[in-house]
Amino acid sequence: MAKKTKVLDFHSKWNYAPAPESADHVEVNKSYGLFINNEFTDPLSGKYFETINPAREAKLAEVAEAGPQDVNRAVQAASTAFHKVWSVMPPAERGKYIYRIARIIQERARELAVLESMNGGKPIRESRDVDIPLAAAHFFYYAGWADKLDYAFPVKHSQKPERIKPVGVCGQIIPWNFPLLMAAWKLAPALAAGNTVVLKPAETTPLTALKLAEIIRDADLPPGVVNIINGGGTTGAALVNHPGINKIAFTGSTEVGKIIQKSIAGTGKKYTLELGGKAANIVFADAAIDQAVEGVVNGIFFNQGHVCCAGSRLFVQEPVADLFIRKLKDRIETLIIGDPLDKNTDIGAINSKEQLMKIKRLVKAGLNEGATCYQPDCSLPSKGFWFRPTLFTNVTQANRVVQEEIFGPVLSIQTFRTVEEAIEKANNIPYGLSGGVWTDKGAKIFNVSSQIRAGVVWANTFNKFDPSSPFGGYKESGMGREGGLHGLAPYIQMN
Ligand code: NAP
Ligand code: MG
Repeated sequence: MAKKTKVLDFHSKWNYAPAPESADHVEVNKSYGLFINNEFTDPLSGKYFETINPAREAKLAEVAEAGPQDVNRAVQAASTAFHKVWSVMPPAERGKYIYRIARIIQERARELAVLESMNGGKPIRESRDVDIPLAAAHFFYYAGWADKLDYAFPVKHSQKPERIKPVGVCGQIIPWNFPLLMAAWKLAPALAAGNTVVLKPAETTPLTALKLAEIIRDADLPPGVVNIINGGGTTGAALVNHPGINKIAFTGSTEVGKIIQKSIAGTGKKYTLELGGKAANIVFADAAIDQAVEGVVNGIFFNQGHVCCAGSRLFVQEPVADLFIRKLKDRIETLIIGDPLDKNTDIGAINSKEQLMKIKRLVKAGLNEGATCYQPDCSLPSKGFWFRPTLFTNVTQANRVVQEEIFGPVLSIQTFRTVEEAIEKANNIPYGLSGGVWTDKGAKIFNVSSQIRAGVVWANTFNKFDPSSPFGGYKESGMGREGGLHGLAPYIQMN
């Protein structure tokens, strides 16, 4: 396919916030094909869809949509690469390729950060300081494990070390909230363990994954080891149901996670599911209040609240509740909403019109249920998808804004008296992905964090990630872990 390149100029038509110095331009192709066998190819489906900048509602590129035949081509490519090249390559060699991907991500970090913010709407400060460095860190971390699998998963004396094997061809499906980072979480452990991959990014944010495809080609990975195909839910379902897939790794909504679980039941396909969340952030009266206010703000407004582990339910202990809520209101008055490419921006654009509608629907439900809503009186850009940081008080455990994942900048606030009450309320939810505890008592941290039924509990901090640390959920937040050795385990088999 002929690739025409246009240079996007951020200094024009951007009238409500100054253009950032660090993002003059980034190159985006007019159209992208399917990345199969290290080449961008035209889709047999013949279909393309538009991807936009949600802060401007402006088209960025056209992206090929994979139909069933395209999914089949990608799976065939991955299968051939698995049997002929990747699974039989000396593990230390595999590691070198993965290190190379990590280094090129670092080299192209600025371009990736700008593209992530353009396509997804998140503040450049976050993509620059969190998403892209962490994506590189995941490749570095798992590259190191590639030749140490025997050490990581010691076998019994009766078994031979060579019985540690990769699973095969992995279908990986990711959401739009951390597009490059989620691709890294999925690809790095799969590749380190000797698997090959067909990855499907989310429909609204395909661009950094396609840049990653270029990086993978530049890193000289053998053709077919990583294939990246785009499309919506139908493409995802075709990948899940393809008989050539040995494992599905899915991050997304609980709703789609359940559909996937049903559709692969009885097929023998392995799977891991990272699903929704509704984390409790619990502030005790003995906490450092100003620090806790910052932590609660970061917990819910980071990435516009499009975070599965967001601290979307705040529980404040009664003696400090009034003071805390007042300080929280003061703090959100100071948050800067607007141009995702301005490095001063705190809250960027909502990822899509569809997501904005969902947030509005749930906020309306909160109002209808009698909750009290507080929003700062800030102006919003006239174009694009935006939502003000929002606090709900006067809520009960039964309210929809307390029980349902909003996946936006909306925090519900409740108070509590005793430790037991806080734990009971925190756990009274279908989800169990993450939680937070704020207190100056170490014993309270251990007590509360061990009783919160969630995969990750932060103490006196929130939304901190590290490649060596496992991440994942209980209950309807999914099964399996990503990160650390736990995240490598689903990509090997011991028989
Ligand atoms: P989603 O609608 O479930 O979509 C996730 C991915 O699955 C997208 O690539 C989507 O394609 C695809 N998909 C949709 N229907 C499918 C089907 N029937 N079969 C196979 N694939 C299908 O979720 P989302 O709205 O993108 O992301 C938000 C959700 O992800 C939230 O619930 C959030 O909590 C969760 N999340 C969880 C974690 C975690 O680690 N636990 C991390 C991040 C996000 P489209 O592009 O068409 O949607
Ligand atoms: Mg979706």
